[in-house]
Amino acid sequence: MPAPSQGIAREKAPQPGTHGSVSCPFCGLHCDDLEVRSDGRRLAVTANGCDRAKAGFEQEPPAAGMPPSIDGKPVSLEAAIARASDLIAAARLPLYGGLGTDVEGMRAVMALADRSGGVVDHVLSRAQYRNTNVLQTRGWFMSTLTEARNRADLFVIVASDVSKLHPRFVERIVSPEQTMFDAPANGRTVVLLGAGMPPSAVSGRLVGDVVDIPCAKSDVPAVLAELRAILRGAPLSGARPGGVEITALEDLAARCRAAQYAVFVWAPQALDFDGADDAVHIVSDVVRDLNKTTRAAGLSLGGNDGAASAASVCSWQSGYPLRVSFAGGVPTYDPYRFEVARMLAEGEGDLLVWVSSFGPDPTAPPATAAPTVVIGSPAIRLDTTPAVFIPVGTPGLDHRGRLVRCDSVVSLPLRRLREIGLASVADVATELAGRLPAVVAPAAE
Ligand code: SF4
Repeated sequence: MPAPSQGIAREKAPQPGTHGSVSCPFCGLHCDDLEVRSDGRRLAVTANGCDRAKAGFEQEPPAAGMPPSIDGKPVSLEAAIARASDLIAAARLPLYGGLGTDVEGMRAVMALADRSGGVVDHVLSRAQYRNTNVLQTRGWFMSTLTEARNRADLFVIVASDVSKLHPRFVERIVSPEQTMFDAPANGRTVVLLGAGMPPSAVSGRLVGDVVDIPCAKSDVPAVLAELRAILRGAPLSGARPGGVEITALEDLAARCRAAQYAVFVWAPQALDFDGADDAVHIVSDVVRDLNKTTRAAGLSLGGNDGAASAASVCSWQSGYPLRVSFAGGVPTYDPYRFEVARMLAEGEGDLLVWVSSFGPDPTAPPATAAPTVVIGSPAIRLDTTPAVFIPVGTPGLDHRGRLVRCDSVVSLPLRRLREIGLASVADVATELAGRLPAVVAPAAE
């Protein structure tokens, strides 16, 4: 596998001062216009950050020299890495979960999993698989953030409070300061379908009508199915799914038909209800139908916690989109067998290596009886004491790197803005892999 830092310039010491065009690692939009002031150790967002970004960048750094630990007792980094590599070497089936890291960190974890015969899966993969299932079985028409920002005249936001998960989506994509093409004279229409986002969260100079079609999230698939039937001219059920009036759906259908470029937006992480997979399927079907007479596309806003980076790196290095096992010596893909959350719940695997380097509230590992090695942000809150804890820096604050954006068409460069004396996930995983016994190549015939 390629070196984790391939293509990354050498780290320079962080310069105190105000940095412009900073990429934000704290949600999948990865806005690249932040202004961040650094005194070399503490950071402050001085322009363009949302509350989530401010909470992440401005989180108080740990006390200098925060040590790693073994069974809760402070040790040197060398001792922690030695203990972690012993545990990995002794494990029959190590599980690599969380995977909240950047491209370079994920490359290094892939190499470590390959060398140790482990399984890799991201903490948000269950959400991502709502998309993957559609892509693998039906195919779809998808947009990008740039395309949507420049061309869309109708946004339909499906059962997702994007103002919480991706706080600047409306500001940057629905109603940006500049677009390549003129927006409609009466503004862009935004439809909020299903409980999720409050209409008050949608405003801006390019926003026209804001149409709220509330219903319980669990009713969203039925509402979408009714909308699709109207668009196709099929007989209607006569029911009012989710209590939504048919006239409201007929109005939405008319807006979809009249739009030059309708974009259906969802955040897979928010679709946490029974039938959520069906909702993504039906949205994709509606988009496909609309493209017979006009232009429409989907736009998925995943990618938090480095999820898009993990899926991309896993795809280009193993050929599969996460849930991959190296236990047989070659990458083996099985979206059911190699879901780490299920494996842990059913007692499979004998070691959990949990990677979680993003704040402001890093995702902690699930409860498990297996010994756990945590390679994580110092801010992580752990319910139980892990066998080994190795604190690491956050990509884009403590070291350089790259993150793949939620639309998977571009990776954003990350800067090093402060010095708090922590290694990166890539450093730690590379060191661990280097201490494992060499893989013996099969003899040539
Ligand atoms: S919307 Fe997301 S990427 Fe943009 S500043 Fe906020 S947290 Fe960062």
